[in-house]
Amino acid sequence: MPEFLRRLYRAILLPAFGVALLAFMWAAVAYQVRQEKMTARHEAVLHSQSLSRTLAEHTNHLLRQTDHATQLFKLKYEETDGRLRLAEFARKNGLLDSLLPTKLDLPMAILNHEGLVIDSMNGYFAPDLKQTAFFKSHITNPADVSLVSTPVVDSRTKKWQIQISRRLNNPNGSFAGVILVMMDPAYFVEDYDRLNVEPGGAVMLLSRENGMSSARIDDQIIISDSIDFSVAQASSTQPADELLLKRPFDAIDRVYGYTEMPRYLLMAVVGIPSDAAMTRFDRRRSTYYGATLVASALVLLFVYLLVQQAHRLRRTASMVIEAQLMLRAAADASLDAVYLLKACRMRGAHREILDFTIADLNERAAQLIGFRSEQIKGKRLIEVMPELHSEGFVDKFRHVLESRQPTQEEIEVNFLPNRDVHWLHHQIVPITDGVAVNVRDITSRKETELAMRKNQAELAAVNDASPLGLIRADATGHCTYVNRTFELITGVSRDEALGDAWMRAVHPHDRAVLKAALKHMAQTRAPYQDTLRCVHPDGMIVWVSFKIAAMVVDGKVYGYVGTVDDITHVRKSVMALRESEARLRTIADTLPAMVAYIDAEQVYRFHNLAYEREFNRTGTTVLGRTILETMGPERHAFLEPYVQRVLAGETLTFEEDDTSDTTERTFEVVYIPQMDEESTKVIGFHVMRQDISSQKREKLRLLRLSQVDALTGLTNRAGFLQKLHDAMIGARANGNLMAVMYMDIDRFKPVNDTYGHGVGDALLKAFSARLTHTMRASDTIARLGGDEFTIVMDRIHRIDDASALAAKIVAAMQTEFDLDGTVVSISTSIGLTFYRDEELSPAELLNRADVLLYEAKQAGRNTFRSGPAIPPPTSNAA
Ligand code: GH3
Ligand code: MG
Repeated sequence: MPEFLRRLYRAILLPAFGVALLAFMWAAVAYQVRQEKMTARHEAVLHSQSLSRTLAEHTNHLLRQTDHATQLFKLKYEETDGRLRLAEFARKNGLLDSLLPTKLDLPMAILNHEGLVIDSMNGYFAPDLKQTAFFKSHITNPADVSLVSTPVVDSRTKKWQIQISRRLNNPNGSFAGVILVMMDPAYFVEDYDRLNVEPGGAVMLLSRENGMSSARIDDQIIISDSIDFSVAQASSTQPADELLLKRPFDAIDRVYGYTEMPRYLLMAVVGIPSDAAMTRFDRRRSTYYGATLVASALVLLFVYLLVQQAHRLRRTASMVIEAQLMLRAAADASLDAVYLLKACRMRGAHREILDFTIADLNERAAQLIGFRSEQIKGKRLIEVMPELHSEGFVDKFRHVLESRQPTQEEIEVNFLPNRDVHWLHHQIVPITDGVAVNVRDITSRKETELAMRKNQAELAAVNDASPLGLIRADATGHCTYVNRTFELITGVSRDEALGDAWMRAVHPHDRAVLKAALKHMAQTRAPYQDTLRCVHPDGMIVWVSFKIAAMVVDGKVYGYVGTVDDITHVRKSVMALRESEARLRTIADTLPAMVAYIDAEQVYRFHNLAYEREFNRTGTTVLGRTILETMGPERHAFLEPYVQRVLAGETLTFEEDDTSDTTERTFEVVYIPQMDEESTKVIGFHVMRQDISSQKREKLRLLRLSQVDALTGLTNRAGFLQKLHDAMIGARANGNLMAVMYMDIDRFKPVNDTYGHGVGDALLKAFSARLTHTMRASDTIARLGGDEFTIVMDRIHRIDDASALAAKIVAAMQTEFDLDGTVVSISTSIGLTFYRDEELSPAELLNRADVLLYEAKQAGRNTFRSGPAIPPPTSNAA
């Protein structure tokens, strides 16, 4: 309710003031108008009075002249002893003319002492006037005075006459009669024009005696006995001496003034038409009212404008208050810390700034430095947080305040109580003798930025380290980024590549195709891939695999990413591979042997012409078929174990007899396993089939003749047995001691199993070489087969010599073998026996050595066993 009243008060204050002002103004104007009206009326009264005075003077003058005329008549009458008559008296240029204007033609009469009219002129008189009051008065009063009376209107003439009479005496002084002059009051008022009365003005003469009046208004003469006046008393509204008409006699309102003429009991009255008298006042009043109206309008307008302005002001003020409250609330709720700092200055001339006082701050600002706002409001920074001085913040505030230049920056701090906050954005704005400081915790943003920058750096590093050249383009296809590898591959620098210029790196012959493809891709958005040539500035041609794809988000292309891969080397090696493949095929096809490659699933993947010829002979297609399908179940069953071995990683050579045909054929088959790239798995094997039917026949024939081991070049079993036989005969004949060693490599089979047959063979060769090296040239070293070797020493001095040699061999074989990089450790066991002259066959002697070998093996291998200690001499040995 008080709010309502307050509002009402505010709402009506200005209009009320306006109304009061108007009321006062109108009252003042009304008062002024009334005053002016009175003055105007008063002036009008004075004017009419002065006019009435003139009228009175004129009338007085005429009446006095008339009186003089009666006096003059009396004189002349008495001089002429009563003989003077009116005609003589009033003749032209006579006595009367000297006093009064002749045109007046005043009615005059002479009465004798009996009251009878003895002479008269210009008018009618009753013949006997002895009963009249004036006559009687003159009889009785001998004084020479005139009597002025205003007798009632003559009933005959209906005229009101002023009558002046004078006593006439005889020479003896006795009463002789009376001279009587009548005067029409209209004469006085007739001289109207001399008064300069405005049209409509009234000039009047009134009788005080009988109330008769004679008036002239314009050209009209009015005789009346009914005009009645009263004299106004001076009052606030009425000027004194105004004559008030009790009842108006015509329609015109006038202001009347009067002058008394007491001698004649008359009153001169002049009335000025109010209209004329008040014209000036009316005009003034109109001016006043007009001016007041204008002023009122202005006041109203002014008040209206004031009300509007006040309303607007109130609205603005309430908005300002609201804004202030909002600002305060915003400051309190703000994420920013806000400090208002006032400068603390040194006393003295320079008024240097020493410190700042916290004039105001929001809650967040207090929290930031570890306080509540009321704890530190009004305190100096040095008390609250000395670090602000030591870290240079106060200098910054001072600088901003002195330079009046706001500043803002992002800074890293380490002195805030909350250690999690260490990046701040602060803004310093100069205010009146202080600064406003706005601080925001941007730690998380900064950390994100840092992380992002690291990511970007990482990404850039990854991009640059990428073996692929990367290119990125915007939606219009203009290049915006290339990585380092792109520069290296294409020979175009990053700056040169931006925009459309990267196209220059492409070989001129490939450009048109590429452009068309990119255009097509922009329309279809399908990724594009092709092999192109790039030309370096030095003319070097680089083959690249170029891939590009559109980056599409919500169906809109916002860019493209492409990769460039230098495939020059790959291409070269592919070409080389193709060439070598072609070469190999040519070679393979020209080979008489059958060459094929079979995968781990036993399916033919490759074969040469000879293979095709062989199998087309039987009408079988080989490629893509399995061994089983190609060879049939019988041959497959024979081959299967070999296949399993080669697939286990063993290189095999074996012979296969083909009995499918009428002529029996023998094939030498070589299976070579194909390992995968990591050499962990057999992914297939190569097959070489050679028809060795004829060679085999020939070889068999030759081997039968030959005594040489094909693998090692040592003497073979046949040669050995021949030699043993010969040596035993020699020993028996000469009685000398001979020795035979039978040796077998220890654990040779695992070498075959582990490294393959090829390594096994190589070991056998290396073994025999080392053996040969150890022995004398005269000793016969033979390979019986497998890993079995024999040595015949046909002439030894002592048993110990042979034993030493056996020990030497065992020791020599303990050293590992390096077989083309494959290092193999083996040992050997030896059976050593002697012969001189016993009855023994070579086979029996060999068997004895074999038994000793068995013993050595049994004893744990890597050793030798010999015996017998001394071969018994036989009877025929001498
Ligand atoms: P031990 O210590 O008992 O002698 O064991 P070992 O593994 O050496 O067994 P053994 O002497 O009985 O095996 C001989 C193997 O030699 C059997 C055979 O597979 C292999 N072999 C036979 N002839 C050849 C050949 O000409 N070349 C290759 N590489 N291996 C052969
Ligand atoms: Mg062995």
